[in-house]
Amino acid sequence: MPLVHDRCICLRKVEYSETSQILTLFARQHGILRVIAKGAHRRTKAGASKFDGGIDLLDTGEAVFSHDPARDLPPLTEWKLVDGHLELRSNLRGIYLGLYGAELVSRLFEEHDPHVELFDRLEQVLGDLAGDRREQAFLAFELDVLRESGYLPELFTCAMCGNTMEGASHAYFSAARGGVICRNCEGMAPDRTEIDARLLRMLQGIIKLPRSNGAIARLPILTRHQTDPINRLFADHVEHTLGKRLKLPRYVIGRRI
Ligand SMILES: [Zn+2]
Repeated sequence: MPLVHDRCICLRKVEYSETSQILTLFARQHGILRVIAKGAHRRTKAGASKFDGGIDLLDTGEAVFSHDPARDLPPLTEWKLVDGHLELRSNLRGIYLGLYGAELVSRLFEEHDPHVELFDRLEQVLGDLAGDRREQAFLAFELDVLRESGYLPELFTCAMCGNTMEGASHAYFSAARGGVICRNCEGMAPDRTEIDARLLRMLQGIIKLPRSNGAIARLPILTRHQTDPINRLFADHVEHTLGKRLKLPRYVIGRRI
């Protein structure tokens, strides 16, 4: 089985036995893959360990692993930590958003399906989440994940009648219908919730912004007051489409457990 090198971000990890970890990695050139890091917690007498004492969620590293999509859990043979995101880990809001971003990537993409640009965006956003641009940086990344995976809900026209929702004074959202609903149709979508029409306009505006180096340029400054309702709406949409609950939204948007 050929050994390959790739830059990876750790999306999920399960401690496996006393010394090993099962990791879901997002590899820049190879997409999502699951590997086993045998001996990750085993130390030599000199105190060294094979993977610097274990790999943590969101760690970015240069990895070497045997690559065979047909084989379940190939071993990780080398891991050189490039960025442990120490600054991000000191901010609770930032780390939750980072973990939620990782959860979305791991749930919405198939294994062994490379998404180089999205990988670069995740690496970039993990840096941004450590600073005070985190709300808008996360929202822009979330939009990229939804668009790239085909999970972006309909936000410009009514998901039922097709009328434009640009400039609408009232707007509703239905996860079951997969998008925004106009005032005429809302009565026929039992699961709809009203959304602030100004927030919808802002979201439509962000989607239309030009991009530079893969990221959305000139993002407005956003607060949680603005991003919580949008993150909630997207989480409902993804959960409805997948038919599964996500783990991180309860920490990110503070909703029911
Ligand atoms: Zn309609």
